[in-house]
Amino acid sequence: MITQALEGRVPDYLAKVRASAKPLAMQGQELRALLRGDLHSHTEESDGSAPIEEMVVAAAALGHEYLVVTDHSPRLTVAHGLTAERLADQGRRIDDLNEVSPVRVLKGIEVDILDTGALDQSAAALDALDVVVASVHSKLNQDAESMTHRMVGAIANPRTNVLGHCTGRLVEGERGLRNESRFDAEVVFEACRQFGVAVEINSRPERRDPPTRLLALARDIGCLFSIDTDAHAPGQLEFLDYGCERAFAAGIAPERIVNTWPVDRLLDWAKG
Ligand SMILES: [Zn+2]
Ligand SMILES: [Zn+2]
Repeated sequence: MITQALEGRVPDYLAKVRASAKPLAMQGQELRALLRGDLHSHTEESDGSAPIEEMVVAAAALGHEYLVVTDHSPRLTVAHGLTAERLADQGRRIDDLNEVSPVRVLKGIEVDILDTGALDQSAAALDALDVVVASVHSKLNQDAESMTHRMVGAIANPRTNVLGHCTGRLVEGERGLRNESRFDAEVVFEACRQFGVAVEINSRPERRDPPTRLLALARDIGCLFSIDTDAHAPGQLEFLDYGCERAFAAGIAPERIVNTWPVDRLLDWAKG
């Protein structure tokens, strides 16, 4: 199957699945049709369940033009975060894969935002990537002032492109529930607007992050958005439907959603 997909054809059985597929969410399907790819996905190299090749086959079946691979950074040891060396090795394998892949594979990272607001990877390693998603994964319950300072520090870093799952909340699922982190959302989203960082609409059913009221605030402030799956398995790449439903309900213009843009524009923005 992988061989077939990597030769540039969608595997037969996936073509059948695609033809008969029902969307996960009915609202937002017009917006979903405008999305060209996904900026946040994991492989078995950190805490995903599948090799890159299988994620690529699934992305092809969904009609994606590109998939950004964003495995975790070193500090997230529970997720087997990639050292700079492993990240560089992954980048070389992505270069090889792109020789045959039907979907353009972009190099990325979900980099931890450290307590200081610094990013958990070297500047040189980040410079070698196409897209940088920065997320808070630790000390989620610190006081609002510290969290705001920490998040703005990461947003102001010129290497950051997307602010991942901004509140860290969990609203359902086997990992249990988790409250939203506390921070000054006006300050954080205003920083995103000023520094051209996209606010992620994390499509995972257990996250639905940002919450609706914060989505409306980021919309009113004038932020860019990225609708991402944060997929940890090939089937989860379909979660984009959920994010589109929420973006549609929030009245966010497609032009402000970076994954509606042609890939060259996306890459220019990410490097800008
Ligand atoms: Zn994350
Ligand atoms: Zn993630």
